[in-house]
Amino acid sequence: MAIATVNPTTGETVETFQTHDSAEVERRIAQATEAAVALHDTTFAQRAEWMNATADILEADVERAAHMITLEMGKPIGQARAEVLKCAKNMRFYAAHAESFLADELLADPSAVAASQAGSVWQPLGVVLAVMPWNYPLWQVIRFAAPALMAGNTGLLKHASNVPHSALYLDELFDKGGFPPGCFRTLLIGSAEVAAVIEDERVKAVTLTGSEPAGRSVASSAGREIKKAVLELGGSDPFIVMPSADLDTASTVAVKARVSNNGQSCIAGKRFIVHADVYDAFVRLFVDKMSALVVGDPMDEATDVGPLATESGRDEIAELVDDAVAKGAKVLTGGSTPQRPGWFYSPTVLVGLTEDMRVVMEETFGPVASVYKVADREEAVRVANQTTFGLSSAVWSTDAAEQDWFIDHLDAGAVFLNGMTVSYPELPFGGVKASGYGRELASAGIREFCNLKTVWKA
Ligand code: NAP
Repeated sequence: MAIATVNPTTGETVETFQTHDSAEVERRIAQATEAAVALHDTTFAQRAEWMNATADILEADVERAAHMITLEMGKPIGQARAEVLKCAKNMRFYAAHAESFLADELLADPSAVAASQAGSVWQPLGVVLAVMPWNYPLWQVIRFAAPALMAGNTGLLKHASNVPHSALYLDELFDKGGFPPGCFRTLLIGSAEVAAVIEDERVKAVTLTGSEPAGRSVASSAGREIKKAVLELGGSDPFIVMPSADLDTASTVAVKARVSNNGQSCIAGKRFIVHADVYDAFVRLFVDKMSALVVGDPMDEATDVGPLATESGRDEIAELVDDAVAKGAKVLTGGSTPQRPGWFYSPTVLVGLTEDMRVVMEETFGPVASVYKVADREEAVRVANQTTFGLSSAVWSTDAAEQDWFIDHLDAGAVFLNGMTVSYPELPFGGVKASGYGRELASAGIREFCNLKTVWKA
């Protein structure tokens, strides 16, 4: 795939970039390696000062950065601004907490291991490669980079080929904040070049946020090299509505959970699993609210849903809906490609789904909701757990015992009760099954790329 910015609202190519040749890749890996040595010997206080300065720069630049994001991948401009500010918040969070998350742990009674002192210390691994997607072009990267740099690691970024402006913006950002040059470097390379970077002995670990095929490929390379990997992959999150739910609120949040980021979020509610007692009432509210969404230019503040980021992504969504309809699904709203330039798809609600339809088992990365009617909580969980994914989940119920039962039985990395899944710096984030392994954010996230070194003293 060529590395280029193509405006998804118009389909026009804005700028095409030359990939880095092998000499430039070598230069950048060498810089990151040298910077890792320098960063290792800095204090948390020093790194926090640079991280907070980087957050200041990002906050001051919110309008320009948000415009860049919306131009490259088409999310509504208000959501792009929120993404930029969330990045700054994450930087400040790790600036404040990295030292306590990585504090030495000493045994209270070292005599139990025949020592005068014993315990463990967290140390940086060195250079970590981050392979990242386009859907949150700054947030996905900062979610990894802020804890990694605060731990004393350095980062190499292989960003998605359709967001090169964002990739180059991130290449400069941490230098501007005062980090030693080379602490964070972008590699403008294609996905075929990723394996060679993982194989480079100076690169100590890899994190990938993206699709299942990319995850398999990166995990295989890391496995061959015996290097640590974290995988944040796709999801087909269930959004379960039980009879005790406040249906008006649940349906409003359901719409937001489905179409936020033009429906291209790994943690979007994608499958709406509704108890038979409230099915008709919920579906009526949900369809009304999905139909009322304003689809249009994402630079317009009034737009709710912009285009999909790529033509192939839009075509994939249209194919999934067409396949379901051909096999008997019913479209309650949407189900078509608007007649206009760019890669738009109408917000869509599907019912009458059967297991032979692709949309039931695959991820719908666009504004298409599937709704399922279930008889009881057991059937709700069976439907929720039937895909290969296990990223997050949402349950709407005010019955405390029922909430506990769902927490216990859902195969997912998270359960959100009476709300939609959101990633917070304070909470661990990640999945099970084909949604990947490892965690980002909170204390778990910063520890992924550290060596927990045991220290024993006679
Ligand atoms: P993608 O095609 O897998 O791309 C993600 C990144 O991986 C890009 O940088 C891509 O580079 C690279 N890549 C693709 N194939 C590769 C390979 N074989 N070896 C090495 N690198 C490879 O995914 P996407 O379409 O951009 O993003 C959508 C997917 O990401 C969805 O499944 C979504 O659910 C998932 N996602 C997960 C999370 C999470 O936190 N769990 C968050 C956001 C998105 P090129 O662009 O050059 O191909």
